[in-house]
Amino acid sequence: MPELPEVETTVRGLAPILEGRRIASLELRREDLRRPFPPDLRQRLTGARVTGLGRRAKYGLIETDRGDTLVFHLGMSGSWRVDPTQIGPHDHVTIETDEGRRITLNDPRRFGSLDLVPTAALNRSEPFVRMGPEPLGGDFDGAYLDDVLDGRMAPVKAMLLDQRIVAGLGNIYVCEALNLAGIAPGRAAGRISRPRLDRLAEAVKDVLLAAIAAGGSTLRDYAQPNGELGYFSASWRVYGREGKPCPRCGAAIRRRVDSGRSTFFCARCQR
Ligand SMILES: [Zn+2]
Repeated sequence: MPELPEVETTVRGLAPILEGRRIASLELRREDLRRPFPPDLRQRLTGARVTGLGRRAKYGLIETDRGDTLVFHLGMSGSWRVDPTQIGPHDHVTIETDEGRRITLNDPRRFGSLDLVPTAALNRSEPFVRMGPEPLGGDFDGAYLDDVLDGRMAPVKAMLLDQRIVAGLGNIYVCEALNLAGIAPGRAAGRISRPRLDRLAEAVKDVLLAAIAAGGSTLRDYAQPNGELGYFSASWRVYGREGKPCPRCGAAIRRRVDSGRSTFFCARCQR
């Protein structure tokens, strides 16, 4: 499942193909993914020039000179492919640029989405309007966490997964950051000292940046046969490593399942 680093890597992979180019054609092979595509999507994008790409939380943003931003979400299984040699049954959308480059949105499980939002209203639109700060941004730090978690007795893991607290963090990177910071996932969020919150904010940034760097190194290979962007095998500290040694202290990593979600952690050094 694509998380923030995969979306960031995807956006960086798409930028050199799309930025400054005009969209010569847009082909939709179905009407919807998780929800229907905007009915006028083709008309509003065909002929538009792409003025910039970006990311907010786990959403990719493709901004055009018509005042619209194409907002994509990769859902559970989505990816963009660059210059695919053939179109398969799960290639639902193809954009061709005026240079003849093609990108295709492939999504076998179809939990992804494509929306077109007026760029000027982006931050006031769903789902962005209630989102907390970007974890890699300057306003996400120990002081911010100290402020927003004050008095909150919910487990710190649940707080970090709450998009209103911080945008775009998923289960994998929360587990990774809590291990790196040495904080137990179940600890009451409001009872963590300021120095440990400083470490936690740093840990969140560190695990995301390391994954983006790993993804960046695979970007150079995107000319592989399927041209798939954004999926890469990062080496996790604790995620998916039940029974293996903790990178901090060597004790066996544990897994706990609550409401269908796995938490990987070290019971010895995460306090
Ligand atoms: Zn440990």
